[in-house]
Amino acid sequence: MNDYESLIELQAIDLSLDKQESLAEEILTELADRTALDQLEFKQLAVENELSTLAQKQGRLQLELNETKDRISSLTERMYAGTLRNEKELKSVQEEITFLEGVYKEKEETVLELMLKAESYSSLGLSITEKLMIATGKAQERQDSLQTQKHDLEITIATQRAQRDKLVKNITKTLLDSYTQLRTKKGGIAVSQLSRDMCGVCRIVIPSSELQQMKRSKEWRKCSGCGRMIVAG
Ligand SMILES: [Zn+2]
Repeated sequence: MNDYESLIELQAIDLSLDKQESLAEEILTELADRTALDQLEFKQLAVENELSTLAQKQGRLQLELNETKDRISSLTERMYAGTLRNEKELKSVQEEITFLEGVYKEKEETVLELMLKAESYSSLGLSITEKLMIATGKAQERQDSLQTQKHDLEITIATQRAQRDKLVKNITKTLLDSYTQLRTKKGGIAVSQLSRDMCGVCRIVIPSSELQQMKRSKEWRKCSGCGRMIVAG
């Protein structure tokens, strides 16, 4: 294998390595990505917080209801105990009872509303938990498959890097330097193979005098169209 053949093979390996390495990077990004699960866990937490707030409110209201009920009972007892001195006192007790009954009813309705709200949050919580379970299972499967892909890729990359290291030893340093510099500038493709009388990449026609000189000297030429290294072969 001459320098140029090695160079062409080197470019093929480098292009493949670029692809494998960017694939490996994508896999690493996806492996670290927990967005879908995080979103569901966040929703689940929000529902749990809402349920606990509702339970606290309900507990407080239940206490107030008990207090109001006790107060109504004691007022009713007073009314029938015969201890009220006059009509005015009786009327004021009756008015207070009526007022407290109104308060009781209102609070009772609020408790009912809270219970209904809690019920709907509970079923929402259940559906989120179910979704989270399914998503966790799927994520686990995906992680397993990504880990396998990652492992296979690592082997391919290591093999190709070893091939590259071996190949590079066959190429002179100046040629390798030109290749490396051009590869960065030209999107990974530095070498173009001559295709009849054209540059294999940009298809520009090489003047026949240049072509002859190229074949005679067996040296690479810089393509006047795309600036790459044209090699005969
Ligand atoms: Zn060209």
